[in-house]
Amino acid sequence: MDAPRNIVVNDFMFCADHGDEYCHACCCDHRLTNNIRIEDVLQDDSRFDFEHDLEERQSINAYALGAVAAIQTEDSFECEKHSTVDCERCFDWVEIVTKHAEDVEELGRWNLGNTER
Ligand SMILES: [Zn+2]
Ligand SMILES: [Zn+2]
Repeated sequence: MDAPRNIVVNDFMFCADHGDEYCHACCCDHRLTNNIRIEDVLQDDSRFDFEHDLEERQSINAYALGAVAAIQTEDSFECEKHSTVDCERCFDWVEIVTKHAEDVEELGRWNLGNTER
């Protein structure tokens, strides 16, 4: 078997085959690494207690958000909507994680069942 390959979309890492942060098939979990990128911003948001929860947070799927390989630069990913490499609107991780965290407030846990909408 090939070693799992990763992709990077707007500084967040995902498995190349499925676009998952946390992937059973690839045995990878990029959430910890990805969290470091947004930690500072999230900690300013006092609504949530991220300290304990972040590493267990709901996995983001890059492909579900429309990430497609950019044609010009093989290693970059752009969004389907705007064809923008590392699009800050489509791949706004802080926004996405905050939304997931709001669900946590409602459900009392990360919504691990249905991933994206
Ligand atoms: Zn995978
Ligand atoms: Zn976009």
